[in-house]
Amino acid sequence: MNKFSVLTASVLSALMLSSVSAAPVTTEGTGVGKHGDIAVAVTFDNGKITKIDVVQNKENKVLAQKVFTELKDNVIRTNSVEIDGIAGATFSSKGFLDAVKAAADKAGVKLAAKPADTKKADSAMAQNQSYDVVVIGAGGAGFAAAVEAKSKGANVVLLEKMPTVGGNSLISGAEMNVAGSWVQKNLNINDDTPERFAEDTL
Ligand SMILES: Cc1cc2nc3c(=O)[nH]c(=O)nc-3n(C[C@H](O)[C@H](O)[C@H](O)COP(=O)(O)OP(=O)(O)OC[C@H]3O[C@@H](n4cnc5c(N)ncnc54)[C@H](O)[C@@H]3O)c2cc1C
Repeated sequence: MNKFSVLTASVLSALMLSSVSAAPVTTEGTGVGKHGDIAVAVTFDNGKITKIDVVQNKENKVLAQKVFTELKDNVIRTNSVEIDGIAGATFSSKGFLDAVKAAADKAGVKLAAKPADTKKADSAMAQNQSYDVVVIGAGGAGFAAAVEAKSKGANVVLLEKMPTVGGNSLISGAEMNVAGSWVQKNLNINDDTPERFAEDTL
């Protein structure tokens, strides 16, 4: 083999190697969420996350929804796991971010450090708005108040500080402690009234 063919062969093999190392790679990682393991399959292309599939999770479908949509999109956009989680889904967020980090470690990918700002301003929302009734807190009481006011013809806004609505009402056992319930009937308690219930509660 002459000098020229040796050189050509080494250039060709270097090119082949670089095209192999540049190929997208998918690895799996696991983190611990609120209700168990969260497993993700992450695809990296040249050190950048291009896709995240959530392979396994037992998180609350409503409370953790934004972890698997908004937070996932932010991780891909910033190529970082050093970003804010979703308020109200702290453990689910941490489990998800840990899972992505574990997948990156497995792939030998170094993710980006904390980005400057990951929050997007909602420019479509008018700064000054006017309503007849402003209800603060979108739990059971807030929804009931808002629906009642709306049904009476008021222009109503219902404000919630968390990224999801529902409050404690959403995670409650939904047993209704009221006068005249089936429990009281079964126990032969027939003299309770809404007024007595209100007194008891106070
Ligand atoms: C695990 C669990 C199980 C339960 N089981 C039962 C049961 O079986 N039976 C029963 O009768 N009760 C039960 N309860 C209690 C019941 O859930 C609550 O009493 C009830 O949900 C309270 O309703 P609420 O609308 O007042 O508050 P919430 O449903 O908690 O709603 C309040 C909302 O206001 C929001 N908020 C607070 N401050 C602000 C602010 N400054 N700006 C904007 N939004 C704000 C909160 O984020 C929240 O979404 C349970 C509670 C828990 C936690």
